[in-house]
Amino acid sequence: MSILEKISSEEIIALENKFGAHNYHPLPVVLSKGEGVFVWDVEGKKYYDFLSAYSAVNQGHCHPKIIDALVSQAQILTLTSRAFYNDKLGPYEEFLTNYFGFDKVLPMNTGAEAVETALKLARKWAYEVKGIAEQQAQIIVCEGNFHGRTTTIISFSNDENARKNFGPYTEGFIMIEYDNLAALQNALESSNNIAAFLVEPIQGEAGVYVPSEGYLAQAKALCEKHNVLFIADEVQTGIARTGKLLAVNHENVQPDILILGKAISGGVYPVSAVLANDSIMNVIKPGQHGSTFGGNPLAAAVAVAALQVVKDEKLSENAAYLGSIFRKKIGEYIQHSTIATLVRGKGLLNAIVINDTEDSSTAWDICMALRDNGLLAKPTHGNIIRFAPPLVMNEEQLLACVSIIIKTLKQFEK
Ligand SMILES: *Cc1c(COP(=O)(O)O)cnc(C)c1O
Repeated sequence: MSILEKISSEEIIALENKFGAHNYHPLPVVLSKGEGVFVWDVEGKKYYDFLSAYSAVNQGHCHPKIIDALVSQAQILTLTSRAFYNDKLGPYEEFLTNYFGFDKVLPMNTGAEAVETALKLARKWAYEVKGIAEQQAQIIVCEGNFHGRTTTIISFSNDENARKNFGPYTEGFIMIEYDNLAALQNALESSNNIAAFLVEPIQGEAGVYVPSEGYLAQAKALCEKHNVLFIADEVQTGIARTGKLLAVNHENVQPDILILGKAISGGVYPVSAVLANDSIMNVIKPGQHGSTFGGNPLAAAVAVAALQVVKDEKLSENAAYLGSIFRKKIGEYIQHSTIATLVRGKGLLNAIVINDTEDSSTAWDICMALRDNGLLAKPTHGNIIRFAPPLVMNEEQLLACVSIIIKTLKQFEK
């Protein structure tokens, strides 16, 4: 087949199926263009994007200011490695640390790498500052967590699909129930060897589980009491998604270590970051951690532009405003629905719980019907559909999307 020939969605899916590893199960739609809140498939059909690449594209597809930064920097300098300084990294680090209120940042590329970095940092701090005996440090994590796909990270997942047959696993993790302060307190009191508590302020992949009000603030206070680091994984919840810059801001919590990824680049380039104050970050010395691409000038230029857009376009405020309309409208519908039981979320990170067994295909079938009706969303664990549009959406578009969702749910009412 000539590469100049236009190939159909079906043919492209067949190619992936034949030549790509089957490590995903995508909704059958082949996208070839995106702009703002919209994406188009190869046949030219237009859709509202209600996944935003798992909240990486908060600033909307191909935001002109971010693309400008990408293109102009790409023409000047893309990668030096950290063997040398580059003229974009220092200014980016100053910008980022001021933006989030930390002393220092350690730049990486993907979310999983940033989580790994945070875990290494917490362990090193535990040995060198807290004074835990060698090899003894433990990190508390939550059931239902999602922090990425590396061997260490899946070692403390309780999702069998993510974990099974990838052992032997990394040791040193204690798993407790999410949103359970007594469990956290027990774990903290059970040992003097706890280095950190790693938590998602809202569990995104698990199905947009919003913890009880006060959970994060009280968890942070418990950690402080026990000299344990509070690590917030805001890879999905951060960068205005939940109606504040960070989800921890809803409870005025400043984490000891903050993990960012996804929308820090507006989905334009893989950029992640770990932020902490000097008392923690200074335990990392030259040669002890790094990444060839981490902190490259292209990433730095893109991230500055992407974060500037978040402020300039008041995306936190917009997410808070539109999110409350979304939950109100969908909630009103669900009161009389047999197919959906619940809508939950914060800002524009929301989910609808479908009234069917975990292993049924109903959520998937609804997503297929949503696709046919011009809106793209994806089921998460169990029978839950996550709704996370780009934050550059306006009210009229949101209301149009609410209509599509309600119209689609109606097709499934019994
Ligand atoms: C997506 C995600 C990650 C992993 O990010 P990758 O860039 O896919 O490695 C980590 N933590 C959370 C909360 C995420 O949503």
